[in-house]
Amino acid sequence: MDFASVLARIKEASPKHRLDIGDPDLPPPPEFVEALRRVDDFRYGPAEGLPEFREAVASLFGVEPSEVAAVAGGRHGLAALMWAFRRRRLLTPSPYYPGYFEIAKVFGLRLGLVETDGGWMPSFTERGVYVVNYPNNPTGVVLPRGKVRELVYVAEFVISDEIYRDIVFGEFTSPMELSSSVAVVYSFSKVLSVPGLRVGAVVAPRELIKEVVKFNKATVNVPPTPVQRAIASVADVLPRRRAEVSETYRRRAELAASLLKLEFVRPGGAFYVFPRVGDDVRCFEAALAAGVSLLPGSLYGDSRHVRLALVEDEERLKEAFTAVNVACGGPR
Ligand code: PMP
Repeated sequence: MDFASVLARIKEASPKHRLDIGDPDLPPPPEFVEALRRVDDFRYGPAEGLPEFREAVASLFGVEPSEVAAVAGGRHGLAALMWAFRRRRLLTPSPYYPGYFEIAKVFGLRLGLVETDGGWMPSFTERGVYVVNYPNNPTGVVLPRGKVRELVYVAEFVISDEIYRDIVFGEFTSPMELSSSVAVVYSFSKVLSVPGLRVGAVVAPRELIKEVVKFNKATVNVPPTPVQRAIASVADVLPRRRAEVSETYRRRAELAASLLKLEFVRPGGAFYVFPRVGDDVRCFEAALAAGVSLLPGSLYGDSRHVRLALVEDEERLKEAFTAVNVACGGPR
């Protein structure tokens, strides 16, 4: 089943619990919504992003503003970087975020897959430009520091998709901490619960930022300026927000671990669990019939698992997990 037919099936079934798309249910921070309402400047801005936005992101990452470019969401930043490395061997661990393949396809790029073990740990042996995503969608796992060291040792360059870097339940090491041959793709979609606003940033060496700016000019030209302004004016709320959302999603992942009668690797961040069910489409259909939408793992390159997005409150999740246990659980 492809993504469009999965979504069509979900729409048709109109389930009570939507645990399919990773659209955060927590409301955005009120300070941010207020800041967005106050914006009254809607003019064009520089293709690299507004100075105040670049400064705000630079201070979050401990880099220079010249090492930051605004982009129209994480996906746009990923496209810019994959385009910048279009002549190199691109590799990504499996299971993977399907967006990488959508981008590769329009650029006519090949994206090689790297196998992972039972704990979703990849073995980094081949040289190339790696596109990695931790905390991971769809599994929720993070790499221990030793694995990140292995990655930066083997990689020519790392494109680190850190869309979920603010939703972590324990340790998280960005490859950026261990190597300068790294570009981080960051987004405000998940941490602020604003995926429709389309704003993110690339944090990378200056030479690469120039390429991202070229890509901006060829596509959106100017990433949305009102959103950049609002973010710059409330950047100080981010540390508290990060702690709040991490705690909420950590509790939901704990709830999944205690209630779901399916096996899965405990997530270290993000808001997904990726349990083993045997036949993903059968579980998808059975769960849908029981009032819960989830996504077949084959969309992520693994047909023995399904992805549940933990984007409902705990009471609702309890009900949904009970239904999934009946629909997808075998005898244990
Ligand atoms: N990377 C990953 C792993 C994602 O899960 C998502 C969104 N689901 C994105 C990138 C893109 O996010 P956005 O474009 O909203 O920033």
